[in-house]
Amino acid sequence: MSDSYLFDSFGRRIDYVRLSITDRCNFRCIYCMPESGEKFIPHKEILSYDEILRLCRLFAGLGVVTFKVTGGEPLSRKGALDFIRALKSLPGVEQVTLTSNGVLLAPYVEELARIGLGGLNISLNSLRSGNYRAISRAQAGPDEAVRVLNLARQAGIRVKINVVPMRGRNEEDLEELTRFALTSGYILRFIEVMPVGLGQAQQGVAPEKTKRMIEERFGRLVSEGERLGKGPAEYWRVEGYGGGVGFISALSDKFCARCNRVRLTSTGFLKSCLHHNTGVELKPLLRQGADDAALVKAITEAVRQKPAAHSFAQDERRKPSFLMNSIGG
Ligand code: SAM
Ligand code: SF4
Repeated sequence: MSDSYLFDSFGRRIDYVRLSITDRCNFRCIYCMPESGEKFIPHKEILSYDEILRLCRLFAGLGVVTFKVTGGEPLSRKGALDFIRALKSLPGVEQVTLTSNGVLLAPYVEELARIGLGGLNISLNSLRSGNYRAISRAQAGPDEAVRVLNLARQAGIRVKINVVPMRGRNEEDLEELTRFALTSGYILRFIEVMPVGLGQAQQGVAPEKTKRMIEERFGRLVSEGERLGKGPAEYWRVEGYGGGVGFISALSDKFCARCNRVRLTSTGFLKSCLHHNTGVELKPLLRQGADDAALVKAITEAVRQKPAAHSFAQDERRKPSFLMNSIGG
């Protein structure tokens, strides 16, 4: 139990931190990373695992109980498994979860289960190889992601599937993905494409349209009533099926009022809102010998400055230019 909690100036408690441990990835998803010409951040600019763990210890002391390890592709950074193990064993850390495209994950699933990984989100944008590859611009096919989903479930890890529905890209695949999830007992989450970086070039599918499709093809959606995860998704079950669906609709259903999170980029920028560039650079403090009190002060200040809400809708002409792989989603 922490003595002091992190609250922003709107009274929201921050108890969840997303950790992007690398900007590198084995995929080049059309809504996230350029196909070529991407300049990766040099290693020396990336926080070491020890530096990240030091910050996480301080976050935990401020009442942060959940950490999401993300990327780029987190498994593309050497030592990710040892890092997750060390993170999970920090005092006060209740839950460590991972988000991944799944392709590098199979050899680590058993060990992740032993460590006590609290949840695994696997991105799966289509079950059709051609479409999957057209979106990820990588060689791997959807079978590898599906294999990892099954392996993880067998190992006892709570798994969810993430899909980013896009008009003209995978809209036609949503029915098949839903059928797969509902009949296999998985939760499929529809993530509304955000106008961040390359996401600006994609057109999302309205969540209401997807809900209508599900009700027409599969049956009545029944609200789960309570949130299943620690995030902004609203969950539904479908009568007659073991699996369920979730919607994360940052634009259609702005959930900023209940936002509980901040993001630490791989270079040590503590980003207080996905959209706005408010936050604080922690790396100079870490590398100039700052003591814990100075770091806590900087963290507290970054959280205090957290904006009330994103302004994607108002920002049509001044859209943010950062790439999602450098923030971690
Ligand atoms: N590589 C991992 C993966 O794809 O799951 C983790 C990193 S990825 C940046 C984290 C999440 O952000 C994924 O679920 C991905 O689909 C999502 N994402 C990336 N760009 C997005 C965008 N423009 N709009 C909505 N979600 C996005
Ligand atoms: Fe890589 Fe994930 Fe971005 Fe796709 S969404 S390019 S898998 S970091």
